[in-house]
Amino acid sequence: MKPGHWAIRSAAVALLPAALALAADPKLYPISDHFDGSHFHNPWGVNNTKTLWDVFSWKISSSAEAWPENAPRNTQLPQLARKGASTGVHATYIGHATVYLQDGRRSILTDPFFSERASPVSFMGPRRYRRPGIEISQIPALDTVVVSHNHYDHMDLPSLVELDRRFKPRFFVPLGNARHLLAEGITRVTELDWWQEVDGVRLVPAQHWSARGVGDRNEALWGGYLFRLGDPGSEMKVYFAGDTGYGPHFNQIRERCGAPDLALLPIGAYEPRWFMKDQHMNPDDAVLAHRDLGSRQSFAIHFETIQLTDEAIGDPRRDLRSAIARRKLPVSEFFIPEAGSTFLLSPPAP
Ligand code: ZN
Ligand code: ZN
Repeated sequence: MKPGHWAIRSAAVALLPAALALAADPKLYPISDHFDGSHFHNPWGVNNTKTLWDVFSWKISSSAEAWPENAPRNTQLPQLARKGASTGVHATYIGHATVYLQDGRRSILTDPFFSERASPVSFMGPRRYRRPGIEISQIPALDTVVVSHNHYDHMDLPSLVELDRRFKPRFFVPLGNARHLLAEGITRVTELDWWQEVDGVRLVPAQHWSARGVGDRNEALWGGYLFRLGDPGSEMKVYFAGDTGYGPHFNQIRERCGAPDLALLPIGAYEPRWFMKDQHMNPDDAVLAHRDLGSRQSFAIHFETIQLTDEAIGDPRRDLRSAIARRKLPVSEFFIPEAGSTFLLSPPAP
């Protein structure tokens, strides 16, 4: 990463939905329930900004379960959609928060992370445990890329640059994030505020925070996305939660946009709870989110790819299975993928 990446505000340009080009100066964003004129926040009163002392307290008391050195090879064979075929929505788990969505007409990639490390530098920082379920070179087509927020495990600039070079897709980011992509020469970028929709891509709230360097905390927005996919006449809503704690936004999304047909919900990076719970759901929270959303089907993401927190590699999968049983959810309503697994979402029965 080049020095001063986050400092060159004057060079940055934000493409607003009306294709209005503006310098990415936070003062130009509309004041709202989640933006005070300089910083973004979660409007329902959760202050998830941790202090350096909190980080120190976590690290000295940490009882992190080390993940094994060697990951098993990926054995799942992705079932990719054929162009023009109307076979519902194919959702393939590539790893972490990266999911490849196809409906035969359109293809979308969420938070593409293909790098070795989630870090500003290539030689240190959290390292990926498992290879992506599909490598970039195996992606057949790509129209749209969405980025949920600027943390390194979600905004992986080397991956975005490579995808831009190969496919020239359109990129969507929350307010304040276009500058990072523009600094890399990626120009087809649209910034969205919460609830804004452009071309079937809508940014929706999440309970999280942002920072990429020192001194830029919460200067850029975070969020999840809602996509309209499927054939005209049997359109389906696919929700991608990004990184989020459990909060009232799941109910808000259902009230304003309707229940999703498919929800991609994070289940990993949740221990210790005193530190993580405001910013990351645990598997039990994910089951509650599935219920709040009224999702027809959910799909677990953000696990078994990079160790960011204290839980063991197998905990999210095991804890999700027990939360599903404890809350008496039909097992088939929550798909728990391996890297490379595809879930095929059919239109709802008439
Ligand atoms: Zn994050
Ligand atoms: Zn994350």
